[in-house]
Amino acid sequence: MNRQRRAVYPGTFDPITNGHLDIIHRALAVFDCVTVAVISNPAKKALLALPERMALIRRVTHGLRGVEVASFDGLLVDFLRTVRGDVVIRGLRAISDFEYEFQMALMNRRLNRHAETVFMMPDEKYTYLSSSLVKEVVRFGGQVRGLVTPPVERVLKEKFRKAVYF
Ligand code: ADP
Repeated sequence: MNRQRRAVYPGTFDPITNGHLDIIHRALAVFDCVTVAVISNPAKKALLALPERMALIRRVTHGLRGVEVASFDGLLVDFLRTVRGDVVIRGLRAISDFEYEFQMALMNRRLNRHAETVFMMPDEKYTYLSSSLVKEVVRFGGQVRGLVTPPVERVLKEKFRKAVYF
């Protein structure tokens, strides 16, 4: 029997949005397994702690066959080897994503010549969506229905309710 093809979808997922979920569904249509790999030590400071981000991903992907959730620290190419991943999945929303993604993909291939990156485009309705934008909107009391799942919306609202601003 052929070995299962595993894709690794890395990111901060602070929090997971419907744009991320759209990419996970597309990746599952092409690969047998998708490991959602949450960066545990992001360059940008996360609102949600690593266990919270992972728990939300597990919750909203519950019942999707082939999805696994993991975290990693350090080089993505090392994680790819550890889980015997075949490709890295990245979402491309706009041309503005391209330059950075292109750099990362080529650097990863330089570090490990087997590390291929596959870019996937989400549904048009998610092309302007980012985790940061969702956080901004919730923080100031705006509506994010349809952009994140209800559990994500609840967690964000709770976070900002507790936060104190000076
Ligand atoms: P961000 O880039 O918003 O901080 P992540 O680091 O969590 O988010 O992103 C992980 C991956 O998901 C990246 O490849 C990113 O381009 C992609 N992504 C993020 N938001 C979307 C979206 N709305 N549609 C498609 N891909 C997305």
